[in-house]
Formats: sequence, structure tokens, C-alpha cells
Amino acid sequence: MLLLKFGGTSVGSAESIREVCKILKSYKEEGKRCGIVVSAMSGVTNKLIAMGQKASVGDEHYLTLLKEVEELHFSAIRELLLVSAQSPMLAQVKRLLNELEDLLRGISMLRELSLRSLDTVQSFGERMSSAIIAQYLTQEGVPAIQLDARTVVKTNRSFGYAKVDFLKTNANIVRYFEDTKEYPVITGFIGSTEEGETTTLGRGGSDYSAAIFGAALDAESIEIWTDVDGVMTADPRVVKDAFTLSQISYEEAMEMSHFGAKVIYPPTLQPAFQKKIPLYIKNTFNPSFIGTRISVETGHNDLPVKGISSIKDIALLTLKGSGMVGVSGVSSRLFGALAKEDISVVLITQASSEHSITFAVAPEFASKAQTIVNQEFIGEISAGKIDAIEAERDLSVIAIIGENMKATPGIAAAKFSALGKNGINVRAIAQGSSELNISAVIPQRDVAKAVNALHEAFFLSNKMTLNVFMLGWGLIGSTLLKQIKEQAQYLQEEQGLKINVVGVANTSKMYFDENGIDLSLSKEEVLAAGESSDTLKFIERVKALNLPNSVFVDCTAGKDAVERYKDILSESISICTPNKLANSGPLRVYKELQQVAAYRKVKFMYETNVGAGLPVISPLNDLKNSGDRILKIEGILSGTLSYIFNSYKLGTSFAQIVKDAKEKGFTEPDPRDDLSGTDVARKILILAREAGFDIEPEEIEVENILPQECVDAPTVEEFLTALTNNEHVFEERMVAAAEDGKVLRFVASLEDGKAKVGLKAVAEDHPFYHLSGSDNMVVFTTRRYCSEPLVVKGPGAGAEVTAAGVFAEIITIGNYLTHAQ
Ligand code: ADP
Ligand code: ASP
Ligand code: MG
Repeated sequence: MLLLKFGGTSVGSAESIREVCKILKSYKEEGKRCGIVVSAMSGVTNKLIAMGQKASVGDEHYLTLLKEVEELHFSAIRELLLVSAQSPMLAQVKRLLNELEDLLRGISMLRELSLRSLDTVQSFGERMSSAIIAQYLTQEGVPAIQLDARTVVKTNRSFGYAKVDFLKTNANIVRYFEDTKEYPVITGFIGSTEEGETTTLGRGGSDYSAAIFGAALDAESIEIWTDVDGVMTADPRVVKDAFTLSQISYEEAMEMSHFGAKVIYPPTLQPAFQKKIPLYIKNTFNPSFIGTRISVETGHNDLPVKGISSIKDIALLTLKGSGMVGVSGVSSRLFGALAKEDISVVLITQASSEHSITFAVAPEFASKAQTIVNQEFIGEISAGKIDAIEAERDLSVIAIIGENMKATPGIAAAKFSALGKNGINVRAIAQGSSELNISAVIPQRDVAKAVNALHEAFFLSNKMTLNVFMLGWGLIGSTLLKQIKEQAQYLQEEQGLKINVVGVANTSKMYFDENGIDLSLSKEEVLAAGESSDTLKFIERVKALNLPNSVFVDCTAGKDAVERYKDILSESISICTPNKLANSGPLRVYKELQQVAAYRKVKFMYETNVGAGLPVISPLNDLKNSGDRILKIEGILSGTLSYIFNSYKLGTSFAQIVKDAKEKGFTEPDPRDDLSGTDVARKILILAREAGFDIEPEEIEVENILPQECVDAPTVEEFLTALTNNEHVFEERMVAAAEDGKVLRFVASLEDGKAKVGLKAVAEDHPFYHLSGSDNMVVFTTRRYCSEPLVVKGPGAGAEVTAAGVFAEIITIGNYLTHAQ
């Protein structure tokens, strides 16, 4: 004997009922005896409840819902049954609907919906679905008969959540099955009292009905057929990478369902467990897949954590007070008082000091719990020993579950580290004494993010999805996206790192796709589907999405986004950017961003601020962190100025070189922006700060190498003429240097805590002497690298190398987040 249960989605339409029939036919062919429990068609129970509620406040819209429910069933009948069988079934269902309508009219007249009448209202869903299915199965050669469970399942009078009288129920079930040869199609979810009043077993209770029948009949197994491939590591609607667990224990299933995994209704496990009947969770729409077996054995021994589940909405209450230690029996009084009023407590934690007890309840019980507890401790509260209790709302519980956790150290640490790096604030923690679960209370808005982050940490070890948001889609942005696209497969296969570019924006449009934007599309194609945007809108959306492992990439050169960096980092979103403005402004801002990033455990990375793709900032930090002391930094930090002065030798014209450089596109549109040294000053400022010197921008000494006539020239053309007129100014310096065997270089330096930018004549033994082309070079003289300084040299500008530098930082962030500890 098998007991099968088909849930709402499995019987939600004619098409799915056909699938159910196929499954049953194959069992019949194998000669199996089966009992079949069915739910109401999907959505019907919710509609029935809504009808009752509307009727009770005199809202006539219940009739519209009634019509919808009628249509759903009528169309299933018309699609499934032969024409000759349709009329009797339509009439049978219509009779039920008329009965329901009378009941609703009564509710509407009385303006009162008791739990008792609500149960009767809800019972119609299963009563209609089972009738149609039984008839259809018979027609298809699987002789079936409808069984209204109210005739056998006997319960107490706790309407809405009735307790089963197993003695009577089991006897009734056994007797019924002895006398029945057909396959009974049983209404799940409902029962009746001794007096014949209709009751229900709690929402989702059809699973429980199946277990009740299965246990009474000592079935060989109980199969719960639903719309997913079994019990999965997390709710597949929340976690895309969730996978099916082929085997778990009753206890694990119990914990998972208790902590919100809707795939099984918690009480279901008890009857099955008592009789050691294995439960299978199978997918009606993928019947050949093995699904999940729930039995005494816990499978997957290599997995310490089996599942992650969550209860979306709970309230937290804390009983505390300085005088609590001396008060006798606080816990037993507290929980006794709650139990007496049937308030179920989801989670309890107690500080070891016994100064406080925190507990969580369903939000609808929060006020009642508060009143009960304040009443219970009224004496202590008025004596000032205990504080009056308050409820905190908009919270959720997330739990990680698994029998093998107890044998694996470090699970809790890994859990809280994964949450911490995603900026999720944990309000309370509880570990079941069996060590079967560790649960935490977190803000409701973070649930999906938390479940995904934990799933990644525990099931996809060394696998990680980074969610990237890129603001600014110019040359660097496009190059970066191209590089990400080209490397995507390698990164995913070799490093387990998946890069999802979720959001992109230029100055006018933005586009988001949580599943990752298709990078083979052009900018125009992507943004065509986008909405109008500005920097603030884009950042607000990034925050609102609240995805785990988020990285914000600022590829703009402006300051709009920079002003929001602190805000972004505070949301535990990492930033990487070639934009220098944040780090070269006031020292206070620089320090603040460093602090926020450290506090939020996220990365703020800007290697490309100096030397584009060249590693300059990270080696500097490595030196500093390993205990070295920076004595001096010298750098050629502008590719443009490097090119200009590397080309300027005896027999050349300075003005001509500047003109050539401008024509080749090596300079800013106005070459004075390069020659003024401002950009170089920003870079040495950043290096000085990284080396540990607290310097403000004004403290940098910037030599003005341009004669006044050049500075004053109103247009670029006039500037170039002025430069020719002043050729001698440069020539004199160059010739003087050459006479000493030296060359001119535009150098930024930091020595004795002083930063300077200007022209310098360097001798042949200086590393800058032989520099050519537009290369950058940085020379670090430190206590360790004293006689032979550490030199970094290479191309210091260009979209390819800059984008590659940003890309490398994105990967660094991925690696940092993957290794959650
Ligand atoms: P039925 O109508 O068949 O009883 P339910 O909707 O009650 O189906 O339960 C199945 C749903 O449970 C799935 O569609 C899935 O979204 C949800 N679910 C939540 N947690 C899990 C989990 N850990 N594994 C599988 N499904 C889960
Ligand atoms: N139809 C009921 C409900 O939706 C019972 C069930 O589907 O398990 O709660
Ligand atoms: Mg269900």
C-alpha cells in the first residue's frame, strides 16, 4: 500500500491533473494499492478565505471570487471529462458552490466569520477537486472513488488547527480501506468533530492528511507530489542554485519545515516518523527524477549543512531587567504563561548572565504575548526588577540545518562571517540543543540576501556570484565589460567565480537585470531597454536590490557618485574605481571611506588611481603592512608628461613636441591641464596618504613650469603660439641640464613627509634617465629597499590597462568574499 499526496499545483489545471493520472496509471500497472490525498486546486484555498473575509464585512466582491472559483472547476471538468460525464459533474460541483454561496450569504448577513464557519468555507476546495479527480481517473481506467475525509478523520474542536483523535481516526481509516477496492481519492486538509462539524488541520495540511492515512494503514511509503524536485538546499524561488537533497532524516526535515521550508507541512513528519515510514518528495512535472527520501538516515554525509530556510515574518520580545537574576523560575513562568494561551515560540535565546531572555513569535501573536508576559510579571515590573516587555517587528529568522553540523567545528563562525560581510545585522542567535540547527534573527529586508549568501558559503564552497553594478559607460567601461565577457567562462570554470553584471548606466539611461546582463549586446542595445536615470537614481536602485556580494564600479570621472561612496560602503557594497576624486579631496573624506570600508568588512579599491593598470598602491601597502618604512617615493605619474619630456632633447622644440602630442591625442584637449601638474599632484597625494602621511591637497608644492603668457592665453591656439614664443624658457633649462649630463623629467616626489611636483634634472644613474615613450615609473626607497630602490615601470594610461586594473580588483573582491572566514 502506498499513500500518495498531490498538492495544489499538481491539481491546479486540467493539464496537471493529466500528469497526475499518468503517474497513477503506472502504479496501477505495477499492481500497487494506493490511497490518494489531494489538495484544493492551487489558489482556491486562498480565494475561499478571502471570500469569507469579504462576506463578513459586507463586501459583495466575494461573489466575483466565487465566480472565478466556479470557472476554474468548470473548465477543468470540460477539459477532462467526456461530454456524457460532464453534466452530472458540473451539477455536483454547482450544488457544492450553491451550498457555499448560502453559507457566505449567512456570513455576510451576520457580519461575522468565526473560525468554525471559516473551516467549512475552506473545506469546499478539497471537496470539489477530489470529486473531479476521482471521476477523471475512473474514466481513464484507474477505478477511483471520492472519499470525504470528514467521514473518517476525527478531530477536536480547535477550528483552523484541529488536533486529530488518532484512536478513532485510525480505526475508521482501516475499516474504510478494508471495504474499498477502488483507489480512494481523499480530501486532504479537512476532518470533522464528534458532532460532525467541519474542521481543518492548518494551512498546508494536506501533507499531514497523507501522513495520517499512511501511518494508519502502515503504508510502505508516503509520497508527497509537488511542483519542485524534492526538498532542496533552500527555497528554489529564493536561491537559483538550490539543489535537491536525495536523502535527509526525519529530524532534518522537521527542522527545515519548522523553519519555513513550505515544501512539507511540519506536523506531517510525526506520524511517519513514529511508524518509520519513509516519505518521498517528488515532482509531478518531472516524475522520473528520484526526488528526496526522508527516513531515519541522514544522507549526504559530506554535507555538514543540509538546508537553509527562513521564516519571513516574526516578532522579537525580550524580557530583561537588573533584578531578574534573583527572580525565581523566570523561564518556566514565562513560557508557561505563553503555552497556556497556545502561543508557539519559534526561537529562544538566553544570555548566560541570565539577565535577559529573548524569544520570537509569529507577528500576529506579538501583542497578545506582550500582554500575557506583562501580566505574568506585573509584580516584578512594578517593583522595578523587570522591565515591561516590548515587541520588535519586521524581523525574520534564518536557520541552517543539518545533523552533521555537530561534528564539524566552525560552522557558526562561517555563518556569521558570511552574514557580516554582507552587512546583515544579527539581532539574536539560537542554537538548538541537538545542534541540528543554528538560527539567527535578522531584519526582514535582508532575508533573500542572507539566504543566498549562506547558500553560497555552505554549498558552493569556492563558488561565488559577484553582482556588479557599473556606473559610467565610456571607453573604460566598455573595455571592462568586454574583458569580463571574454574571461567569464575561464573564471567560472577555474575559479568558481561568476560575474553577474546586474546594473549599468551612462549619464541618461540605466538598465538592470538580476540574472546578469547579456554582455554580447552592444551598449545601445542594452540601454535601449533601460529607463531614464541619473547617478542618484542608479545608486538608490543598487541599494534597494540588496543583493549579496555586490560591487559598485565607478567608471565616471565626475564627483556625483564619489559623494555617495560612504553611503554605498555603509550598505556593505564594495567599490572599485579608477576615479581619483574621492582619495584626492579633503583628508577627512579619505579617512572616513577607509574606516567605513573596514567597519563594514567590504573593500574599497582604487589601484588604477595611480599608474592605471600598474601595481603601485598594492605593493606600497604590502611594504607598509610587512613592517617596512617608506623613506622616499619618486614617480613619473603622467603618461603625457612622460612622453613630452622623454622626447625633449637637444635639437628638438618643446612647443613642437607639445603640438605633436596633442595631435596624437596624448594630451587633454587643452594641454595645459596636463602641464599644470594638477593630475600628478592628485596622484602623489594619494600615494603619500597610502604611505601613511596625513596630507591635505593644499600642502603639495606644485611647480608652475609655464611662463605667465602661456597661462594667460585665452584659447588653446593662442596658448600654443605663446609656447613657441617662450621656447627659450624651456631650452635654457634643458641645455643647462644637458651640460651636467642630465635630462629633464616631470617628477612627483615624497620625502620627509613633503610632497612636491615639478621639473627635475636627473643624472644617468637615476632610473628616470632612461625612460622612454609614455611609460610611468615609480621608485620606492624604503628601509629595506635602500641602496637598490623598488621600481615599478610600465604603461600608465590607456583604456585596456586601466580596465584590466579594475577587473583585477573585481576578482580580488570575489576572492575575499569567497573565503568567508
Ligand atoms: P503543494 O501545493 O504541492 O503543497 P507548496 O507550495 O505547499 O506545494 O510547497 C512547495 C513549494 O515549497 C515549492 O514550490 C518551493 O517554492 C517551496 N519551498 C520552500 N523551501 C523549499 C525547500 N527547501 N525545498 C523545496 N521547496 C521549497
Ligand atoms: N488547500 C490547503 C491549503 O492551501 C491545504 C494544502 O494545500 O495542503 O492550505
Ligand atoms: Mg503544501
